[in-house]
Amino acid sequence: MKTIGLLGGMSWESTVGYYRAINEGVKKSLGGLHSAKIILHSVDFDPIEKLQHKGDWDGTAKILSDAALGIQAAGADFLLICTNTMHKVAPEIEGAIEIPLLHIADATAEQLAEKGIKTVGLLGTAFTMEQDFYKGRLTDKHGLKVLVPDEADRDIVHNVIYGELCLGRQVESSKAEYLRIIEHLSDRGAEAVILGCTEIGMLVGQADTKVELCDTTAIHAAKAVEYAIKS
Ligand code: GLU
Repeated sequence: MKTIGLLGGMSWESTVGYYRAINEGVKKSLGGLHSAKIILHSVDFDPIEKLQHKGDWDGTAKILSDAALGIQAAGADFLLICTNTMHKVAPEIEGAIEIPLLHIADATAEQLAEKGIKTVGLLGTAFTMEQDFYKGRLTDKHGLKVLVPDEADRDIVHNVIYGELCLGRQVESSKAEYLRIIEHLSDRGAEAVILGCTEIGMLVGQADTKVELCDTTAIHAAKAVEYAIKS
């Protein structure tokens, strides 16, 4: 079994979900007392969030590349960045290390392809919903048609992530808003909706809606388990 490197803490609330999902996946595959071999570097999210909102992505790339080098030096065989948004600097991180990076958008797109889904809704931070590093990758590399909410709804989705979910708060009225936005994406033609932020699964789940949801935390964690075990 390979050793999984996790670059987490963005937020730590969602990194907990990765840790649990990966260990449950290994236990399910190998049975008994098996558990995942994990090296985790969990950053302080506050300075990262400030740099994001200032647009200083080089600053975030430096912090995360240094952390990734530490994970590699500690013996990880491959790396996961446990946030959709910070895949904005995935090329810089990938350039700093020699071990492979399992990209969250690629893992998600592969699952959509397996299900034959071609038109998909996307929820995440404004960075994820609006910028090419994520939406563009789904479109250009994977040939998906990607629908995002209108500007007012993108604001709601973004503000709930930073103001509530990353602080561990699940608010009923925000859940209702998310479900309304998911429904609207489905009405516009989305065959499924990507929960493209690693905290959203803490607020809404498949039991809450008939619209098919693709939770990137679960998908990314499952991909890590498969990659760790298959060789
Ligand atoms: N965890 C979130 C994501 O998946 C948002 C926090 C961040 O900005 O990294 O995008």
